[in-house]
Amino acid sequence: MKPSRFVYHAPMELEQVLELLSEYGDEAKVLAGGQSLMPMLNFRLISPAHLIDINRVSELGGYSLSDSGLNIGALARQRELELSPEVELAYPVLHEGLTNVAHVQIRNRGTICGSLAHADSAAELPAIMVALDAVMNVRSKKARRTIPAEEFFTFHMTSALNSDELLVSVELPRMGANTVGVFDEITRRKGDFALVGAAVLGTWGSDGKISDCRIVCSGVAPTPLRLREAERYVSGTDLSQEVLVGVQQLVTESLEPTEDIHTSAQYRKKVTGVIIRRGLARLADQRSTTHV
Ligand SMILES: Cc1cc2nc3c(=O)[nH]c(=O)nc-3n(C[C@H](O)[C@H](O)[C@H](O)COP(=O)(O)OP(=O)(O)OC[C@H]3O[C@@H](n4cnc5c(N)ncnc54)[C@H](O)[C@@H]3O)c2cc1C
Repeated sequence: MKPSRFVYHAPMELEQVLELLSEYGDEAKVLAGGQSLMPMLNFRLISPAHLIDINRVSELGGYSLSDSGLNIGALARQRELELSPEVELAYPVLHEGLTNVAHVQIRNRGTICGSLAHADSAAELPAIMVALDAVMNVRSKKARRTIPAEEFFTFHMTSALNSDELLVSVELPRMGANTVGVFDEITRRKGDFALVGAAVLGTWGSDGKISDCRIVCSGVAPTPLRLREAERYVSGTDLSQEVLVGVQQLVTESLEPTEDIHTSAQYRKKVTGVIIRRGLARLADQRSTTHV
């Protein structure tokens, strides 16, 4: 199938994008990498009357890494960040997550912000942004606002963005020197959307205990899901074998994941416990590489 008719806009300036969104917001879609939007148009799952292609707006491109953190523009491609050695060093959890998003060809075009705006509950990047306490920088013609990642994702494929708003960039605070983080997921085939995923972070202290643990899952609920009980269970421990076995059991018993055509809730429960135990075991292995 081919998309239904739409008016194509190719603004060169951010102000023009915001003007177009203000005028046509309810009937318009922003086109970034097109890796989710084009299939949805071609299958006629959506039929916007206006398409606003932001690819010529140079100020929306690129990313910047500073002492305070990482700012990722709306047009920064997933592959661009994945291939950056300094991003890999500063945010290993983001790097690992990116290598799990689809295939190289898709990451060459797909943007980080496009994935966040799309808000697929099975996607890797929303869960990673919640784990890293990222903040979304949003603009409309009338106003600017910032939205913490934890409030940004409101339902499957639904975000807190209003129809006249553009996600201009996402900002990640710097990870501390003793903070470690990993991402793992279960897929049927490499490159498929994952059945479940988990970003696992924590900070090693000089007492050999881990604190500020963040465990955020994708694919188990309509939004990225923080497992706060599991976070409390492991925080303040040395992530011994006993703790790892205990947290796996806690997750497997307490999680109530969604069930769909891809797999059963029972399977999701089981493998979520496994990837969280594995992720925490990797944090334990990384203790010696921190500066404590
Ligand atoms: C075969 C295949 C496999 C895939 N597998 C995975 C996977 O395993 N994991 C995964 O996470 N993703 C996967 N994807 C999706 C891919 O990561 C997309 O690139 C991503 O979801 C959207 O980014 P994009 O830049 O292409 O956005 P687009 O497709 O251009 O846009 C997606 C949606 O976001 C909106 N949008 C985009 N940018 C903005 C913005 N700055 N402000 C406001 N709204 C905006 C658009 O209007 C649209 O509604 C897959 C895609 C394909 C085709």
